[in-house]
Amino acid sequence: MKPAYIQIIGTELAIAWDDQSESYIALEKLRRACPCAYCAGETDVLGNVARGPKISLQPSAFDLRSFDLVGAYAIRPVWGDGHSSGIYSYELLKKLGAPS
Ligand SMILES: [Zn+2]
Repeated sequence: MKPAYIQIIGTELAIAWDDQSESYIALEKLRRACPCAYCAGETDVLGNVARGPKISLQPSAFDLRSFDLVGAYAIRPVWGDGHSSGIYSYELLKKLGAPS
């Protein structure tokens, strides 16, 4: 499964998958799910094990400036506060975009 296209629309990341499904992920949700070691710490990628205080984020942290494709399996967003170490696999994006 791969994205046919990925587009930033307003405050959401819109992904059209090659299986014809679509995902819309709020940028705030996307940033809070950042899987990098700094943001995720010891919690899992969806933040199910919350320990300690949440990192406080400025509004610019939810401003998605751009993103790079990483190999054939992930994207790396560049956020408004300069943070760009999170690698989001397509699998994670699919999960984040699923109705909860
Ligand atoms: Zn991060």
